Amino acid sequence: DKFIQVNNLEKTYENGYQAIKSVTFSVKKGDLVCLLGPSGCGKTTTLNMIAGLLNPTGGDIIVNGKSLLNVAPKDRNIGYVFQNYALYPHMTVLQNVMFPMTVGKNKKPKDEAERIAKKFMKLTHIEELADQKPGNLSGGQQQRVSIARALVQEPQILLMDEPLSNLDARLRLKIREEIRNLVKEVGITTLFVTHDQEEALSIGDKIILFHNGVIQQDDKGQDLYLE
Ligand code: ADP
Ligand code: ADP
Repeated sequence: DKFIQVNNLEKTYENGYQAIKSVTFSVKKGDLVCLLGPSGCGKTTTLNMIAGLLNPTGGDIIVNGKSLLNVAPKDRNIGYVFQNYALYPHMTVLQNVMFPMTVGKNKKPKDEAERIAKKFMKLTHIEELADQKPGNLSGGQQQRVSIARALVQEPQILLMDEPLSNLDARLRLKIREEIRNLVKEVGITTLFVTHDQEEALSIGDKIILFHNGVIQQDDKGQDLYLE
């Protein structure tokens, strides 16, 4: 039942800084797992290695029994939601959500891409925004577009890096509930990075607590410690 197994993962950056020091954890299929810890402790570095945007300098990442490290990033079938949404400003909402299905080897016929895009836009409550440009949307709406775009490829893993940090406090509570419901409805295994302990406790099936590039705790106790 260990869908993702991260084994003794290490990352030393080109400048010699060791951001990740032998990190080991596992994730069950369908779980929403929070990587929690203060800024600079290595959460983003870990996500980037899973996504293939960075190469580890040690250890392994195994998904469904197979190492990811020899799989090209575009073939890993991983959805990534960034803190700043990273939407294409010149495209409409519908075009943004369709985009992953219009390029590369997963290219789909236009009508099928549109049908799938609309299905996920419905799940994320942005159907009525189809023809808007990202610049006209609120932070919460842009975040929903970014989540829909990450899900249309039906990725095996969803990575979310501080997806709520640019939202105001009230919206943060609402969207985190929506994310939790969506992840459970779609059944997608999700890694959710946050520095907010309360957020992690509320949304996570399990919490992996990072501290200076190592894991301090790996469970869901109420007794987490953050400086
Ligand atoms: P977090 O996501 O927990 O805030 P990061 O993974 O972004 O932490 O960064 C972990 C540490 O690695 C930080 O000290 C950061 O400054 C450092 N770091 C990140 N990227 C690089 C890089 N390209 N070169 C050198 N150090 C880096
Ligand atoms: P996050 O907000 O996710 O922690 P940061 O804002 O720390 O990310 O980092 C943004 C970018 O700067 C990343 O690409 C990261 O690799 C790079 N970076 C962060 N810290 C350093 C560093 N000490 N030296 C070089 N690049 C860094």
